Amino acid sequence: MVLSHQARKDGGGRFALPPSLRLPTFLYLVASLGLIAIVAVVALTPWASLPSSVLLLQTLFLALAAIAGEVRPIMLPGQNFEERTLSTSAPFVLALVALAGTGAAVVVQIIASIADDVRHRRPLQKSLFNTSQYALSVVAASAVYTGLTGRHFLAAPGEVTPRDLMYLLIAGIAMIAVNWLLVGGVVAIATSYPLATVLRQDSRDFLVTNVVLLSVGGIAALVAVDGVPALLLLMAPVIAAHMFAAAAARHAHDATHDSLTSLGNRGQLHYTLERALQDAAQAKSDGPGLILLDLDHFKDINDALGHPVGDRILVEVARRLSEAASENATVHRLGGDEFAVVLDGGLADTKQVAHDLIGCFDKPVTVENLELLVRASVGVAVAPDHGATSAELMKNADIALYQAKVERDRISTYSADLDVNSVERLQILADLRTALDNREMHLVYQPQFDLDEGCIRGVEALIRWDHPERGLVPPDSFVGLAENSGLIFPLTAYVLDSALAQLAQWRRDGHQLRLAVNLSARHLSDLALPDQVWEIAARHGVPLTSLVLEVTETGILSDPVRADVVIRSLRELGVEISIDDYGTGNASLNYLKRLEIDELKIDRSFVSNLLTDEHDRIIVHSTIELALNLGLRVVAEGIEDQETTDLLRHHGGVIGQGFHLGRPLSVADMTAKLEADARGGGDSVPARALGKKAKAARPGTASKAVS
Ligand code: C2E
Ligand code: MG
Ligand code: MG
Repeated sequence: MVLSHQARKDGGGRFALPPSLRLPTFLYLVASLGLIAIVAVVALTPWASLPSSVLLLQTLFLALAAIAGEVRPIMLPGQNFEERTLSTSAPFVLALVALAGTGAAVVVQIIASIADDVRHRRPLQKSLFNTSQYALSVVAASAVYTGLTGRHFLAAPGEVTPRDLMYLLIAGIAMIAVNWLLVGGVVAIATSYPLATVLRQDSRDFLVTNVVLLSVGGIAALVAVDGVPALLLLMAPVIAAHMFAAAAARHAHDATHDSLTSLGNRGQLHYTLERALQDAAQAKSDGPGLILLDLDHFKDINDALGHPVGDRILVEVARRLSEAASENATVHRLGGDEFAVVLDGGLADTKQVAHDLIGCFDKPVTVENLELLVRASVGVAVAPDHGATSAELMKNADIALYQAKVERDRISTYSADLDVNSVERLQILADLRTALDNREMHLVYQPQFDLDEGCIRGVEALIRWDHPERGLVPPDSFVGLAENSGLIFPLTAYVLDSALAQLAQWRRDGHQLRLAVNLSARHLSDLALPDQVWEIAARHGVPLTSLVLEVTETGILSDPVRADVVIRSLRELGVEISIDDYGTGNASLNYLKRLEIDELKIDRSFVSNLLTDEHDRIIVHSTIELALNLGLRVVAEGIEDQETTDLLRHHGGVIGQGFHLGRPLSVADMTAKLEADARGGGDSVPARALGKKAKAARPGTASKAVS
């Protein structure tokens, strides 16, 4: 009725019950003493004489008020993000001690306590402890009151006079003190904090508030003789306290909880983690464990189905995570699709909970008749091995999560080995976020030659990053990172915008070219991509028929159904689709038939070995045959020497790309090359390489304009 220590998970329990050797002993001791006291009081109270000597209606009223006060406690805005409850049953039970005697007060208190335990579905042993310690508190109060007033401990009480007010207040303080010590004892044993520390934590607010409440009890006992209306008037301050405290608690809750899912927010996580670290240090045990969880490709779901659906999925995810988390774990939402779980336990426990959390997504989430399979990746870090402070744990769980995403493992536990590599990559990722804004990115263009005609047919736009400290970072070391972090979307938007603007300029200068832009796998499940491409091309006034989007086999196969939809929509706009790095994925020939595509780019690993490896030669030749017979354009990439050029040119119908024909060039150099190409090629390498005078591509090859 007095002290309420927040239980970790349900927020309403009165104490947490971690395993400890001393704990059961203490619990059983209190329970036994309490039960003995209850049995003795109930057995010895002269119940028959009570109705004639107590004010029945008033007793009933106070009993109901006591039960209501226990079941609907005041929510206190806690310090440091902690939610605490304050029961208001104490003053009414105290009034009952004076008005109806020890027996009635004990019975009412037991009913109130059990009602509250049932409401919170507390385990039997917790309930037994609660009931016993409350009974002992009331017995203590009664003993003090009857001792001071000289009345009989168990007999029906006499009239309450103003003089008794002081005695009742002292009795009330005894009641609080016993309750405070017993609950404090459990918490101290369970958390290994010194009893004095635990008691001090509660002393300020709780004792002061309770003494104020107890004075209401004294007055209730005094005015009861004037009837129930007088008691009703006394309820007003108690109800007002409820309302004010509830409003304050709501504000405090809002500040520390996520409004969508009602889970604790980032600030709350920090506090929970700090607190758990202190607890584990006190108990000299391993832990706590920190689990960071991030949904895979949630942005795609949001984009495709809209934010309201995304929100409903997040709410469902929060519900499942809270259900799957164990008793000693708390779930938080860090924002977006990121969640964090703090757990009192070591590595094995934390890994088990991580598995349970991932397991809760086995069943699809149903929203608006859609069954969506939600996937998540998890990073685990456990104190003290993976960090002794909350900041270290956060950083290392983040590294582990990042590793899980990159390696496509669903759960990854931090290890120092991950660190060197991952910190470096995380740093690149962090820099990448600003690089796009800081104009550190630019494009280079690699020409693609019609080997038969000897002229430039197109260019492939390739991204370059001039890092202020690292120098030139090759795309292979950041495109994968961008894909996994979602940064690929702004990155591709930048590439498309920049490359199409340049294409528009070249077209104005009279160069009719195809422009190839690389897409990542994630774009193929982005249903918004076709509209976005259309909008950028329209803005620059270039026909979409001059745009070739390069995708990989792996990209298509990672989500074939969506990829099909996206590719179809793009082709309907006039965009051409090319399969990049053809031959390196695991795709079957079947998709060549099923998918409508326009171009195959044979991977350079086959092309560069053309002269030395018989198998590669056969593969390249038969692939060219196959593609041409299917009506597809063929690009051979990675041509590095004259012999390879000759071999491919003799085959006929092949577009060539490679260092021997032209390296990726800056805009200025590419423009100069196009000018030279248009003038007839001069002494340029390709002109010699292709064995004839290069000619400019004829204008007007592009047909469908963006309207
Ligand atoms: P990719 O799309 O297959 O691009 C061709 C890569 O091969 C380019 O490397 C190019 O410089 C290189 N290359 C061209 N000819 C030769 C040759 O004769 N020999 C050799 N050894 N290499 C040659 P780069 O620019 O480093 O790009 C590497 C990969 O990065 C690209 O492979 C592509 O997958 C990705 N990438 C580049 N730019 C972008 C972009 O804007 N967006 C996306 N999503 N990915 C990009
Ligand atoms: Mg490419
Ligand atoms: Mg390629």
